[in-house]
Amino acid sequence: MLRPTVEGIALKAWSRAAQLPQSSIADGKVEVPSLCGRHFIRYPIALLEEAMRGRFYTFALACECHAYLIQTTGDSVRFKAAGDWEEISVMYEDLPGEEFLFRDQIGPFVCKKLPSA
Ligand SMILES: [Zn+2]
Repeated sequence: MLRPTVEGIALKAWSRAAQLPQSSIADGKVEVPSLCGRHFIRYPIALLEEAMRGRFYTFALACECHAYLIQTTGDSVRFKAAGDWEEISVMYEDLPGEEFLFRDQIGPFVCKKLPSA
């Protein structure tokens, strides 16, 4: 339970990130509604399979509106940050972890494996 120490400031869930509709599988990719609510981002189904085995990854993707730093979780993804592509690229580069290349029918997909806790 977090409480702000500054009066007049309230903490709440980042509702745009917390109230997204469910992701789905399409053409061998996992399709997730983007934070803008108008587009989708897609990532290889192999990353979902990895997440179900307890191996999580971070990657950068963009819709037509924003770039996002995204992290796989148990059965979904979490949007960690949104911004322009340059900002998100810098955040991605600064993350620790080994970089992996997944290949699927659409092409190579670069991501970083999160160091296991
Ligand atoms: Zn968008």
